[in-house]
Amino acid sequence: MHEMSIVESLVESVQQETRAYPGARVATVRVRVGKLRLVVPEVMETCYAAATLDTPLAGSRLELEQVAATARCPQCQNEFAVEEQWFECPKCHAAGGELLTGQELDLVNIELEECCSCGAA
Ligand SMILES: [Zn+2]
Repeated sequence: MHEMSIVESLVESVQQETRAYPGARVATVRVRVGKLRLVVPEVMETCYAAATLDTPLAGSRLELEQVAATARCPQCQNEFAVEEQWFECPKCHAAGGELLTGQELDLVNIELEECCSCGAA
């Protein structure tokens, strides 16, 4: 289950990003994931809930934005959609195209809520 290792590094970067806001609670974490990362959104969410259980991120929501995979042909410069890890240009059938998108794993943004019990923001 490679989703767990992805989630673990994700949770780590969220905690680093929010270190500057000790009084705030994380409400939503938005992540952009390329299709070729082959993650199952439901599995990611389950892993996220498990990984954040005993952390200040417990109860926050993970939102995934899937990005389609595209590549550019080295021969004819044609840009085309990629469905699998292995692909070739649909025009000239050259292999070894350069991936343009599909391998993203980006933290898009973190939505914070002010902590209501301690008054700090
Ligand atoms: Zn081509």
